[in-house]
Amino acid sequence: MEAAIDIIGFIDRQLQVWETARNNYEALNGVEEKTFAAGNATLKVQFNPARIVSSAAKVDAKSLKERKCFLCEANRPDVQEGIEWGKYTILVNPFPIFPRHLTIPDRNHTDQRIAGRISDMMRLATVLDGFTLFYNGPKCGASAPDHMHFQAGNKGFMPVEADMKKADCHVVKQTDRSRLMIAEGLAQPFFLIETKEVADGSRLFEELLSVLDIPEGEPEPMLNVLCNCEDGHWNIAVFPRKKHRPDCYFAEGDDNLLISPASVDMGGVFITPLEKDFRKITVDDVLKIFAEVCLNAAELKEIAKRIK
Ligand SMILES: [Zn+2]
Repeated sequence: MEAAIDIIGFIDRQLQVWETARNNYEALNGVEEKTFAAGNATLKVQFNPARIVSSAAKVDAKSLKERKCFLCEANRPDVQEGIEWGKYTILVNPFPIFPRHLTIPDRNHTDQRIAGRISDMMRLATVLDGFTLFYNGPKCGASAPDHMHFQAGNKGFMPVEADMKKADCHVVKQTDRSRLMIAEGLAQPFFLIETKEVADGSRLFEELLSVLDIPEGEPEPMLNVLCNCEDGHWNIAVFPRKKHRPDCYFAEGDDNLLISPASVDMGGVFITPLEKDFRKITVDDVLKIFAEVCLNAAELKEIAKRIK
């Protein structure tokens, strides 16, 4: 096992000197939340005004070209420090959803792609004790799709981490050290890899990635990934997506909900930057968004048939 990083001390030191980040973390203490029960699943809605920067982010090629990349070292605020880890830098996310929220960019400005990187994610989930790692595909919530990065937040904050233990899991493929399953019976179906070894888990993930459909014009299958480590094994939840933003994101008038789902939403925490949305959103709205942007169980089973 690799040595754990003193991440709590690092976050505390950053918040002492970085006013913008400190203010946003303090504001997080006052954010309103509401909780829904949907069968075996728990779903939370968080009213988080500071997240408008991400939910409304323009991620088309032209907009990206015209802005300075906020994950490149040269463009970061002077006060922002990082911890170097392999080819990545661990940073405090100044626009938090979690009480402790990290952004972990590659040191180079290179496109957001998951292929070949799941082992990095798994190792980060062990060195960042108490954190769950997540990855947003370039069209599935990443606000910097042109700069490879993971994020991490407090382990256990997303309800799906506990709920997955109550899911109805069907094994698709099993090895000595790992299992690939379809997890059903929660608000959204997903693939779940349970593994005791980085190399074996990584092979299984790459195999799954290789059979997911890639939409025309996209560089990789649309997906979100969560990864945590507990009791000597890793859980890797893979949420294949069929849509970036739901219809309600673009709707006019009363039907509009500014929700741009990413990994944290897949994990059961829906972020509403606008108060009007927080007040009116219902459990049915949340379930409708899942149905619209995620693949359903029948579609996951069709994909699973392609696994050898
Ligand atoms: Zn960059």
